[in-house]
Amino acid sequence: MIEFRNVSKDYPSGTHALNNVSLKINDGEFVFIVGSSGAGKSTFLKLIMSEEKLTKGEINVDGIRLSKLRRRKVPYLRRKMGIVFQDFRLIEKMSVYDNVAFAMRCVGANNKTIKERVPYILKLVGLGSKIKSKPSQLSGGEQQRVSLARALVNNPEIIIADEPTGNVDPEMSHEIIDLLSEINKQGTTIIIVTHEHDLVKEFGKRVIEIHKGKIVHDTMLEETSVEDIELISSYDQDIADDELSPLLKLDEESPDDVEELSFEESAPKEEVIEPPKSKVDQAVENIDKIVEEIESDNKEDLIHTVKLDPAKIRRIMAEEEKKKKQDAAVDSVIDSLNTNT
Ligand code: ADP
Repeated sequence: MIEFRNVSKDYPSGTHALNNVSLKINDGEFVFIVGSSGAGKSTFLKLIMSEEKLTKGEINVDGIRLSKLRRRKVPYLRRKMGIVFQDFRLIEKMSVYDNVAFAMRCVGANNKTIKERVPYILKLVGLGSKIKSKPSQLSGGEQQRVSLARALVNNPEIIIADEPTGNVDPEMSHEIIDLLSEINKQGTTIIIVTHEHDLVKEFGKRVIEIHKGKIVHDTMLEETSVEDIELISSYDQDIADDELSPLLKLDEESPDDVEELSFEESAPKEEVIEPPKSKVDQAVENIDKIVEEIESDNKEDLIHTVKLDPAKIRRIMAEEEKKKKQDAAVDSVIDSLNTNT
């Protein structure tokens, strides 16, 4: 379950991107997030992925409290998620097969599992015959299906998609959402940001509308129809307080009421390498989310696959090790302070 309690996000520029947002998304739900440009939709997704830190409140993702999540634990959170981007973010030099296999290598899957699972997933998204193609040989809709396959291949609990149909034609948009609906039927939670009201109307799922950083409608909590949401979206003015969703009235609750939940100890214990993005951008700038999950025992695969300079990889890894040791030292000081108080 994903739960936002009184969550606000202010960027250092001073923009209040989200303002006291509270909501719950249950396991297995299918949710559309709508709202005009600048409303706060991407920020909402970035907070769930812990790509941005929240400013106030608490977000709970399956028992992980994101306000307390340390940087090096973020890959454990991300393993629950498959992420689909509007611009696909495929690696042009790799075949369709390798683009999907790469996501499995990043989490340490062995070759046998990769060989079985990648063709299976590619068939599932209707690309069984395109396994050897390069992304540039595919249509926009097909590229988005590769990116969907990459998001699905590690069997995530949640799929997060930011405008997944933004770069594909209307017919293919429909197919992509259809595919996500099928995946949702298997129990995966789906959260999609979209501008496409026709799709939202047609699929009749839960719709949450964000306007100027606040939730102004949530079809799960009220008798709002999707048509009403379309109307409100076209407003270009402030929403009066009495138009706000009943959910916002819960916002009076104190953040202290947030249930105490700690990071799941059962999470896998492997070492995770998180290369600083600026240093690997020559090869991985288009897959930054995946690369954060590269594991140390996969470095040979990585060198082989993305043709990074081995010396550079070793340098990145040494720096990451150093940073980890510094983090651990800080953690132990904090722990000892906590014990002494
Ligand atoms: P949406 O996805 O609905 O278009 P965003 O979540 O991207 O909206 O943005 C919400 C607000 O936060 C906007 O005013 C945007 O300009 C601002 N914003 C988004 N990202 C940043 C950032 N990294 N730094 C400063 N302001 C940002």
